Amino acid sequence: MHIFAVANQKGGVGKTTTTVNLAAALAQHGQRTLLVDLDPQGNATMGCGVDKQGLKESVYHVLLGLAELGQARLPSTTGSYTARFDVLPANRELAGAEVEMVDLEAREMRLKRALAAHRDDYDFVLIDCPPSLSMLTLNGLCAAHGVIIPMQCEYYALEGLSDLVNTIKKVHANLNRDLKIIGLLRVMFDNRSTLSKQVSDQLEQHFGDKVFKTLVPRNVRLAEAPSYGMPGVVFDRAAKGAQAYLAFAEEMIERVKTWKEEA
Ligand code: ATP
Ligand code: MG
Repeated sequence: MHIFAVANQKGGVGKTTTTVNLAAALAQHGQRTLLVDLDPQGNATMGCGVDKQGLKESVYHVLLGLAELGQARLPSTTGSYTARFDVLPANRELAGAEVEMVDLEAREMRLKRALAAHRDDYDFVLIDCPPSLSMLTLNGLCAAHGVIIPMQCEYYALEGLSDLVNTIKKVHANLNRDLKIIGLLRVMFDNRSTLSKQVSDQLEQHFGDKVFKTLVPRNVRLAEAPSYGMPGVVFDRAAKGAQAYLAFAEEMIERVKTWKEEA
């Protein structure tokens, strides 16, 4: 089981779109996949066709030890795949978890522990982190083997990246020796823009093979899909954006073949 956190403390950079579409694309490629929604906004939950209103159990209950992951996960209702595609959903209730977890022991390890009991259920676990470096994101980083960082190729893209990289380094040093940055994913790419190309080249120069080969273009079909409660790769599989996420899933499947998973 490979566990990846999709993180960037910047808002609106494409974390949720990446998590939902990569998860659905992996399932379409026959990989048993679990999406963990760690954002109280619950956008990833809705984007997989799971209604966030009136959830009996959610990731909140799992983090607080009020429910087991097996009780709280739900199958994504979007598309029929050869492999299972489950969601550990989130909603507003999760916003309270931060404060309520204060008195719990090893509070940054709650998600890691919950996933450990299900390590044989999935090939991939993808965690959608909120736009902050909070206790929720920390739970994501402590549970993960790697971090996927979606980035827009715009002028301020690199700003704030060092905060994220430093946080990942600290987590690696103190809490999770397994953690690595697997890669930067260029999203909302506009190939008619010179600036997009310049920033993209700059990323490649600075980060080398830490930059994924796949480029996700700006594509309106990806933005429309959530309003239908579907991942873009289900909503319009032929669209350029969907095709990019399907290619990214293949790149990830190849990547983990040479990836040493620690026990
Ligand atoms: P937040 O920080 O609020 O959690 P996020 O990083 O999860 O945001 P998304 O919600 O995935 O970002 O994307 C922000 C907006 O950009 C959404 O409206 C989404 O539909 C749109 N979007 C994401 N990727 C693309 C794309 N490749 N092409 C067009 N629109 C996109
Ligand atoms: Mg999001």
